[in-house]
Amino acid sequence: MKTLSHTTFLGGFTALLVLAWGANLRYGAGLPAGDTLWVIRAETLNLSGLLAVGLMSLIMVLATRPAWLEKPLGGMDRIYRTHKWAGILAGIAVLVHWAADEAGGPIRNLIGRSGKVAREHGPELYESLHHLGKDVGEWALYPLLGLILLTLLRWFPFKPWRLLHRAMPVLYLMGAFHGLLLAPLAWWQQPLGWLMALLIAAGSWGAVLSLLGRIGRHRQYRGEILQVEEPAPGLTTLTCRLESRWPGHRAGQFVFLTLHDREGSHPFTIASAPREDGTLTFAIKALGDYTRNLAARLRPGQTVCVEGPYGCFDFQGEKPQVWIAGGVGITPFLAGLEALGQAPHTPVSLHYCSRDLARDPFATQLQTLATGLPGVRLQLHDTGQEGPLTVKKLLQQEPQLAGSDLWFCGPAGFARSLRNGLKAQGLSHVPFHQEAFEMR
Ligand SMILES: Cc1cc2nc3c(=O)[nH]c(=O)nc-3n(C[C@H](O)[C@H](O)[C@H](O)COP(=O)(O)OP(=O)(O)OC[C@H]3O[C@@H](n4cnc5c(N)ncnc54)[C@H](O)[C@@H]3O)c2cc1C
Repeated sequence: MKTLSHTTFLGGFTALLVLAWGANLRYGAGLPAGDTLWVIRAETLNLSGLLAVGLMSLIMVLATRPAWLEKPLGGMDRIYRTHKWAGILAGIAVLVHWAADEAGGPIRNLIGRSGKVAREHGPELYESLHHLGKDVGEWALYPLLGLILLTLLRWFPFKPWRLLHRAMPVLYLMGAFHGLLLAPLAWWQQPLGWLMALLIAAGSWGAVLSLLGRIGRHRQYRGEILQVEEPAPGLTTLTCRLESRWPGHRAGQFVFLTLHDREGSHPFTIASAPREDGTLTFAIKALGDYTRNLAARLRPGQTVCVEGPYGCFDFQGEKPQVWIAGGVGITPFLAGLEALGQAPHTPVSLHYCSRDLARDPFATQLQTLATGLPGVRLQLHDTGQEGPLTVKKLLQQEPQLAGSDLWFCGPAGFARSLRNGLKAQGLSHVPFHQEAFEMR
């Protein structure tokens, strides 16, 4: 199934809202009466408000980790990327909405207020809430823009950002309340109003799930740690057994793993294929505060919680495959290799890049896994000695690359250089499947 990129999906979603607004002007409510400048201001307020509420509703739905959207969007990592870009677009819509509102003063000074678009008045309850709706929108504005800005500041640490991000559902509900009370009353008798009501209902459902801590609840499974090891400094490997309800996974998928309740969940790839004894393994690299010295804080018998499985990085396809991994990005391929031993498969060439192969525990594990797997070719690259793996170098070992599928997991910069290399070699058509180890 062909997946939609986040730009196509968000472009389509935004276009749908703009079209709905345009169709409402053309066939529904029509342009309001007033001087041109006032009409432009009123419609800018309407359109930017619709886009802000629509995009924020989408953000709330995507935040519920909707597994049914994984196939069309290409996996949960892509859903999070769409969530983030929807947030940026919503931020721009909110800024335009704010600027249009502020433009009221200068327009009044320029042409007076006699040609201002008149607001429709509604029932008593609506009128009594109207001012509150305006105020609530203003109160939500600055924290909302601040939080979107913090998401973009890469240097801002993840933990406090995550804590602050929990305020988003509240800010969304405030924005939705504002939208419900300030959208033109005539909209509610038109398809445009029904569309907005549907979006607000879906977004509010997502916001409430998030506030109640119920996101992903029906995909959570308890288990216990069977074994903890530290095969190299900064690397923790875990074997866990889950309760019998666990539905199983496809090699290459990941879960949100909670090892300590106070810390909450972190995404980790399952580094093993589905096994009959129901065990899962994880290989966790110290990439931050929590994952540092993790092995010392875990012991066999300890309870864990796993939410998932998620992801579409699952090596499906008929064509020969070239797998490329950098560092701990090898985890989905460990599961992939284990799965290749269980069923017939297409030819696979695995390239593992490590800065120091001699001391890398994954190198020996890969050699053991690949031994006895016909149709699997393993290439280990010591990038500390040889420099980075480039598409030029890859082509020397993989002359059939043009007719293969490429599966990649590793640092974002490495992915970028490979994509650029493919383009430079006229190989942009080679499918490039990537698991991003990053969600913010
Ligand atoms: C789909 C996916 C699969 C992954 N698989 C593996 C794996 O198999 N092995 C491995 O070692 N690492 C894996 N990671 C990376 C791992 O999740 C982070 O390294 C870990 O969460 C860092 O936590 P920290 O508190 O130590 O670091 P921090 O310094 O707090 O965070 C470092 C970065 O990790 C990410 N991160 C941290 N906490 C969370 C969280 N709760 N939810 C989402 N992202 C978070 C953020 O991008 C953050 O910028 C995976 C990530 C993703 C998205």
